[in-house]
Amino acid sequence: MGRLQKILIPFLGLVLAFWFYSARDAFKPEMLRGKRVIVTGASSGIGEQMAYHLARMGAHILVTARTRDKLQNVVRRCLELGAASAHFVSGTMEDTAFAQHVVREAQTSLGGLDMLILNHVGASYFGFFDGDVEHVRKLLEINFLSYVAMTTSALPMLKESEGSIVVVSSMAGKVGFPFTAPYSATKFALDGFFSSLRQEFTIQSINVSITLCILGFIDTERAVRAAAEVLQERPAPRDECALEILKGAALRRRELYYRYGSTRLPLLLRDCAAELLDYLVRSRYR
Ligand code: NDP
Repeated sequence: MGRLQKILIPFLGLVLAFWFYSARDAFKPEMLRGKRVIVTGASSGIGEQMAYHLARMGAHILVTARTRDKLQNVVRRCLELGAASAHFVSGTMEDTAFAQHVVREAQTSLGGLDMLILNHVGASYFGFFDGDVEHVRKLLEINFLSYVAMTTSALPMLKESEGSIVVVSSMAGKVGFPFTAPYSATKFALDGFFSSLRQEFTIQSINVSITLCILGFIDTERAVRAAAEVLQERPAPRDECALEILKGAALRRRELYYRYGSTRLPLLLRDCAAELLDYLVRSRYR
Protein backbone atom coordinates (compact mmCIF):
# COMPACT_ATOMS: atom_id res chain seq x y z
CA MET A 1 0.00 0.00 0.00
CA GLY A 2 2.86 2.37 1.01
CA ARG A 3 4.66 1.66 -2.24
CA LEU A 4 1.44 2.19 -4.21
CA GLN A 5 1.01 5.58 -2.54
CA LYS A 6 4.59 6.50 -3.40
CA ILE A 7 3.91 5.86 -7.07
CA LEU A 8 0.30 7.02 -7.21
CA ILE A 9 0.69 10.45 -5.60
CA PRO A 10 3.49 11.72 -7.90
CA PHE A 11 1.65 10.22 -10.87
CA LEU A 12 -1.57 12.07 -9.95
CA GLY A 13 0.52 15.23 -9.46
CA LEU A 14 1.91 14.86 -12.96
CA VAL A 15 -1.55 14.30 -14.46
CA LEU A 16 -2.90 17.40 -12.66
CA ALA A 17 0.10 19.50 -13.72
CA PHE A 18 -0.35 18.38 -17.34
CA TRP A 19 -4.10 19.15 -17.19
CA PHE A 20 -3.46 22.60 -15.71
CA TYR A 21 -0.74 23.38 -18.27
CA SER A 22 -2.83 22.28 -21.28
CA ALA A 23 -5.98 24.10 -20.03
CA ARG A 24 -3.98 27.31 -19.58
CA ASP A 25 -2.60 26.96 -23.10
CA ALA A 26 -5.78 26.13 -24.98
CA PHE A 27 -6.37 28.24 -28.06
CA LYS A 28 -9.83 29.66 -28.67
CA PRO A 29 -10.75 31.53 -31.89
CA GLU A 30 -12.39 34.23 -29.68
CA MET A 31 -8.87 35.25 -28.65
CA LEU A 32 -8.52 36.95 -32.05
CA ARG A 33 -12.07 38.33 -32.37
CA GLY A 34 -11.99 42.10 -32.84
CA LYS A 35 -8.16 42.20 -32.86
CA ARG A 36 -6.52 44.65 -35.26
CA VAL A 37 -4.00 42.75 -37.37
CA ILE A 38 -1.57 43.56 -40.20
CA VAL A 39 -0.60 40.60 -42.43
CA THR A 40 2.23 41.24 -44.89
CA GLY A 41 2.70 39.08 -47.99
CA ALA A 42 -1.01 38.32 -47.91
CA SER A 43 -1.76 38.26 -51.65
CA SER A 44 -0.88 34.55 -51.86
CA GLY A 45 0.43 31.53 -49.97
CA ILE A 46 0.52 31.32 -46.18
CA GLY A 47 -0.21 35.05 -45.70
CA GLU A 48 -3.43 34.80 -47.72
CA GLN A 49 -4.53 31.79 -45.64
CA MET A 50 -3.77 33.65 -42.39
CA ALA A 51 -6.01 36.50 -43.59
CA TYR A 52 -8.89 34.05 -44.20
CA HIS A 53 -8.50 32.40 -40.78
CA LEU A 54 -8.43 35.82 -39.11
CA ALA A 55 -11.56 36.79 -41.06
CA ARG A 56 -13.42 33.69 -39.82
CA MET A 57 -12.39 34.65 -36.27
CA GLY A 58 -13.83 38.15 -36.70
CA ALA A 59 -10.62 40.20 -36.68
CA HIS A 60 -9.99 43.62 -38.25
CA ILE A 61 -7.48 42.98 -41.03
CA LEU A 62 -5.06 45.07 -43.06
CA VAL A 63 -3.31 43.08 -45.80
CA THR A 64 -0.37 44.16 -47.90
CA ALA A 65 1.78 42.94 -50.83
CA ARG A 66 2.63 44.34 -54.28
CA THR A 67 -0.23 42.97 -56.41
CA ARG A 68 -3.26 45.19 -56.09
CA ASP A 69 -5.75 42.89 -57.90
CA LYS A 70 -4.93 39.93 -55.70
CA LEU A 71 -5.21 42.03 -52.53
CA GLN A 72 -8.63 43.32 -53.65
CA ASN A 73 -9.79 39.71 -54.00
CA VAL A 74 -8.36 38.78 -50.58
CA VAL A 75 -10.19 41.70 -48.95
CA ARG A 76 -13.48 40.75 -50.66
CA ARG A 77 -13.12 37.13 -49.49
CA CYS A 78 -12.23 38.24 -45.93
CA LEU A 79 -15.45 40.28 -45.74
CA GLU A 80 -17.48 37.30 -47.02
CA LEU A 81 -15.88 35.10 -44.34
CA GLY A 82 -16.85 37.45 -41.50
CA ALA A 83 -13.96 39.86 -40.94
CA ALA A 84 -14.89 42.77 -38.66
CA SER A 85 -13.26 44.95 -41.33
CA ALA A 86 -10.74 44.40 -44.13
CA HIS A 87 -8.42 46.84 -45.93
CA PHE A 88 -5.38 46.64 -48.17
CA VAL A 89 -2.32 48.72 -49.07
CA SER A 90 -0.23 47.74 -52.09
CA GLY A 91 3.45 48.47 -52.57
CA THR A 92 6.91 46.99 -52.36
CA MET A 93 8.85 46.24 -49.19
CA GLU A 94 12.08 47.05 -51.06
CA ASP A 95 11.27 50.58 -49.94
CA THR A 96 11.43 51.10 -46.15
CA ALA A 97 9.24 54.21 -46.52
CA PHE A 98 6.47 51.91 -47.79
CA ALA A 99 6.91 49.63 -44.75
CA GLN A 100 6.38 52.65 -42.49
CA HIS A 101 3.43 53.79 -44.60
CA VAL A 102 1.64 50.45 -44.04
CA VAL A 103 1.86 50.93 -40.28
CA ARG A 104 0.47 54.49 -40.54
CA GLU A 105 -2.41 53.02 -42.56
CA ALA A 106 -3.19 50.70 -39.65
CA GLN A 107 -3.39 53.72 -37.37
CA THR A 108 -5.80 55.42 -39.79
CA SER A 109 -8.01 52.53 -40.85
CA LEU A 110 -7.88 50.24 -37.77
CA GLY A 111 -7.34 52.89 -35.11
CA GLY A 112 -4.43 50.97 -33.55
CA LEU A 113 -2.74 47.60 -33.75
CA ASP A 114 -2.81 44.36 -31.74
CA MET A 115 -0.78 42.06 -33.97
CA LEU A 116 1.87 42.61 -36.62
CA ILE A 117 2.41 39.52 -38.79
CA LEU A 118 5.62 39.82 -40.83
CA ASN A 119 5.43 37.17 -43.52
CA HIS A 120 6.35 38.58 -46.96
CA VAL A 121 9.36 37.19 -48.81
CA GLY A 122 11.18 38.44 -51.90
CA ALA A 123 11.93 36.22 -54.89
CA SER A 124 15.28 34.41 -54.86
CA TYR A 125 16.84 31.53 -56.77
CA PHE A 126 17.21 27.89 -55.77
CA GLY A 127 20.75 26.84 -56.68
CA PHE A 128 24.45 27.23 -55.87
CA PHE A 129 25.40 30.72 -54.65
CA ASP A 130 26.09 32.69 -57.84
CA GLY A 131 28.19 35.46 -56.27
CA ASP A 132 25.60 38.19 -56.91
CA VAL A 133 26.13 40.47 -53.91
CA GLU A 134 23.49 42.97 -55.09
CA HIS A 135 20.85 40.23 -54.95
CA VAL A 136 21.81 39.48 -51.33
CA ARG A 137 21.54 43.19 -50.49
CA LYS A 138 18.11 43.49 -52.14
CA LEU A 139 16.82 40.35 -50.42
CA LEU A 140 18.06 41.64 -47.05
CA GLU A 141 16.09 44.84 -47.66
CA ILE A 142 12.87 42.95 -48.43
CA ASN A 143 13.12 39.99 -46.03
CA PHE A 144 14.89 41.67 -43.13
CA LEU A 145 15.17 45.48 -43.12
CA SER A 146 11.49 46.03 -43.91
CA TYR A 147 10.63 43.72 -40.95
CA VAL A 148 12.79 45.94 -38.73
CA ALA A 149 11.26 49.14 -40.16
CA MET A 150 7.69 47.92 -39.65
CA THR A 151 8.44 46.77 -36.10
CA THR A 152 9.99 50.13 -35.25
CA SER A 153 7.01 52.06 -36.61
CA ALA A 154 4.44 49.73 -35.04
CA LEU A 155 6.00 49.56 -31.59
CA PRO A 156 4.19 52.55 -30.02
CA MET A 157 0.80 51.06 -31.02
CA LEU A 158 1.83 47.54 -29.94
CA LYS A 159 3.04 48.80 -26.56
CA GLU A 160 -0.29 50.50 -26.02
CA SER A 161 -2.28 47.35 -26.87
CA GLU A 162 0.26 44.97 -25.23
CA GLY A 163 0.18 43.23 -28.58
CA SER A 164 2.25 40.75 -30.55
CA ILE A 165 4.82 40.55 -33.31
CA VAL A 166 4.87 37.42 -35.44
CA VAL A 167 7.96 36.74 -37.54
CA VAL A 168 7.61 34.06 -40.21
CA SER A 169 10.95 32.32 -40.66
CA SER A 170 12.14 28.94 -41.83
CA MET A 171 14.26 25.90 -41.01
CA ALA A 172 16.70 27.64 -43.39
CA GLY A 173 16.96 30.36 -40.72
CA LYS A 174 18.11 27.88 -38.06
CA VAL A 175 20.40 25.51 -39.97
CA GLY A 176 22.40 25.75 -43.20
CA PHE A 177 20.46 24.48 -46.21
CA PRO A 178 22.17 24.13 -49.60
CA PHE A 179 20.92 26.20 -52.60
CA THR A 180 19.34 28.98 -50.53
CA ALA A 181 22.34 31.01 -49.28
CA PRO A 182 20.87 34.55 -49.77
CA TYR A 183 17.42 33.52 -48.44
CA SER A 184 18.97 31.65 -45.51
CA ALA A 185 21.08 34.72 -44.59
CA THR A 186 17.95 36.88 -44.34
CA LYS A 187 16.16 34.34 -42.15
CA PHE A 188 19.15 33.93 -39.77
CA ALA A 189 19.22 37.74 -39.48
CA LEU A 190 15.58 37.72 -38.35
CA ASP A 191 16.37 35.24 -35.57
CA GLY A 192 19.29 37.36 -34.33
CA PHE A 193 17.41 40.64 -34.38
CA PHE A 194 14.10 39.50 -32.92
CA SER A 195 15.62 37.18 -30.27
CA SER A 196 17.75 40.11 -29.08
CA LEU A 197 14.74 42.44 -29.13
CA ARG A 198 12.74 39.94 -27.04
CA GLN A 199 15.46 40.05 -24.37
CA GLU A 200 15.34 43.86 -24.36
CA PHE A 201 11.54 43.84 -24.03
CA THR A 202 11.90 41.61 -20.97
CA ILE A 203 14.55 43.87 -19.40
CA GLN A 204 12.34 46.94 -20.02
CA SER A 205 9.08 45.17 -18.95
CA ILE A 206 7.56 45.80 -22.39
CA ASN A 207 4.61 43.46 -22.72
CA VAL A 208 4.81 42.83 -26.46
CA SER A 209 5.29 39.17 -27.42
CA ILE A 210 7.53 38.02 -30.27
CA THR A 211 6.75 34.69 -31.91
CA LEU A 212 9.38 33.37 -34.31
CA CYS A 213 7.85 30.76 -36.66
CA ILE A 214 10.15 28.03 -37.94
CA LEU A 215 8.47 26.43 -40.93
CA GLY A 216 9.38 23.34 -42.94
CA PHE A 217 8.29 22.73 -46.54
CA ILE A 218 4.76 24.14 -47.14
CA ASP A 219 2.62 23.61 -50.26
CA THR A 220 2.50 27.22 -51.51
CA GLU A 221 2.84 27.71 -55.27
CA ARG A 222 6.21 29.46 -54.98
CA ALA A 223 7.76 26.81 -52.75
CA VAL A 224 6.39 23.85 -54.70
CA ARG A 225 7.59 25.37 -58.00
CA ALA A 226 11.07 25.94 -56.55
CA ALA A 227 11.65 22.80 -54.53
CA ALA A 228 9.17 19.98 -55.25
CA GLU A 229 11.48 18.42 -57.88
CA VAL A 230 14.51 18.34 -55.60
CA LEU A 231 13.11 17.79 -52.11
CA GLN A 232 12.21 14.23 -51.14
CA GLU A 233 9.52 15.19 -48.62
CA ARG A 234 5.84 16.02 -49.11
CA PRO A 235 4.90 19.66 -48.38
CA ALA A 236 2.54 20.41 -45.49
CA PRO A 237 -0.80 22.18 -46.17
CA ARG A 238 -0.65 25.99 -46.13
CA ASP A 239 -4.06 26.51 -44.50
CA GLU A 240 -3.13 24.29 -41.54
CA CYS A 241 0.26 26.03 -41.33
CA ALA A 242 -1.47 29.44 -41.29
CA LEU A 243 -3.77 28.35 -38.46
CA GLU A 244 -0.87 26.98 -36.39
CA ILE A 245 0.96 30.31 -36.75
CA LEU A 246 -2.10 32.19 -35.50
CA LYS A 247 -2.55 29.82 -32.56
CA GLY A 248 1.10 30.27 -31.56
CA ALA A 249 0.74 34.05 -31.88
CA ALA A 250 -2.47 34.20 -29.84
CA LEU A 251 -0.84 32.11 -27.09
CA ARG A 252 2.19 34.43 -27.20
CA ARG A 253 4.60 31.57 -27.83
CA ARG A 254 8.29 32.38 -28.10
CA GLU A 255 8.86 30.05 -31.06
CA LEU A 256 6.56 27.95 -33.17
CA TYR A 257 7.62 24.89 -35.15
CA TYR A 258 5.53 23.56 -38.05
CA ARG A 259 5.51 20.69 -38.69
CA TYR A 260 7.05 19.76 -35.40
CA GLY A 261 8.47 16.42 -36.56
CA SER A 262 10.36 17.87 -39.52
CA THR A 263 11.58 21.04 -37.77
CA ARG A 264 11.93 20.89 -33.96
CA LEU A 265 13.06 17.28 -33.74
CA PRO A 266 15.95 17.52 -36.27
CA LEU A 267 17.07 20.77 -34.64
CA LEU A 268 17.66 18.89 -31.37
CA LEU A 269 20.73 17.44 -33.13
CA ARG A 270 22.22 20.86 -33.89
CA ASP A 271 24.31 21.29 -30.76
CA CYS A 272 25.37 17.71 -30.18
CA ALA A 273 25.75 16.33 -33.73
CA ALA A 274 25.90 19.23 -36.19
CA GLU A 275 27.58 17.20 -38.94
CA LEU A 276 24.97 14.48 -38.67
CA LEU A 277 22.26 17.14 -39.03
CA ASP A 278 24.05 18.61 -42.09
CA TYR A 279 24.17 15.13 -43.59
CA LEU A 280 20.45 14.54 -42.88
CA VAL A 281 19.59 17.90 -44.50
CA ARG A 282 21.60 17.02 -47.63
CA SER A 283 20.03 13.58 -47.80
CA ARG A 284 16.57 15.18 -48.22
CA TYR A 285 17.64 16.37 -51.68
CA ARG A 286 17.30 14.26 -54.81
P1 NDP B 1 4.50 33.27 -51.31
O1 NDP B 1 5.52 33.47 -52.39
O2 NDP B 1 3.32 32.44 -51.59
O3 NDP B 1 4.01 34.69 -50.83
C1 NDP B 1 4.93 35.73 -50.66
C2 NDP B 1 4.16 36.99 -50.41
O4 NDP B 1 5.09 38.08 -50.30
C3 NDP B 1 3.20 37.32 -51.54
O5 NDP B 1 2.02 37.86 -51.02
C4 NDP B 1 3.96 38.37 -52.33
O6 NDP B 1 3.01 39.18 -52.99
C5 NDP B 1 4.70 39.12 -51.22
N1 NDP B 1 5.89 39.79 -51.72
C6 NDP B 1 6.88 39.30 -52.50
N2 NDP B 1 7.79 40.26 -52.77
C7 NDP B 1 7.36 41.38 -52.15
C8 NDP B 1 7.86 42.70 -52.05
N3 NDP B 1 8.98 43.07 -52.69
N4 NDP B 1 7.17 43.62 -51.34
C9 NDP B 1 6.01 43.28 -50.71
N5 NDP B 1 5.50 42.02 -50.74
C10 NDP B 1 6.16 41.09 -51.46
O7 NDP B 1 5.32 32.76 -50.02
P2 NDP B 1 4.94 31.66 -48.93
O8 NDP B 1 3.53 31.81 -48.55
O9 NDP B 1 5.46 30.36 -49.37
O10 NDP B 1 5.88 32.12 -47.72
C11 NDP B 1 5.40 32.93 -46.66
C12 NDP B 1 6.46 32.96 -45.58
O11 NDP B 1 6.73 31.64 -45.13
C13 NDP B 1 7.80 33.54 -46.05
O12 NDP B 1 8.36 34.36 -45.07
C14 NDP B 1 8.65 32.30 -46.26
O13 NDP B 1 10.02 32.54 -46.12
C15 NDP B 1 8.11 31.40 -45.16
N6 NDP B 1 8.38 29.99 -45.40
C16 NDP B 1 7.73 29.34 -46.41
C17 NDP B 1 8.02 28.03 -46.68
C18 NDP B 1 7.35 27.26 -47.77
O14 NDP B 1 7.75 26.10 -48.00
N7 NDP B 1 6.34 27.80 -48.43
C19 NDP B 1 9.04 27.29 -45.90
C20 NDP B 1 9.64 28.07 -44.85
C21 NDP B 1 9.31 29.37 -44.62
P3 NDP B 1 3.29 40.07 -54.30
O15 NDP B 1 4.02 39.21 -55.26
O16 NDP B 1 1.90 40.45 -54.71
O17 NDP B 1 4.07 41.23 -53.82
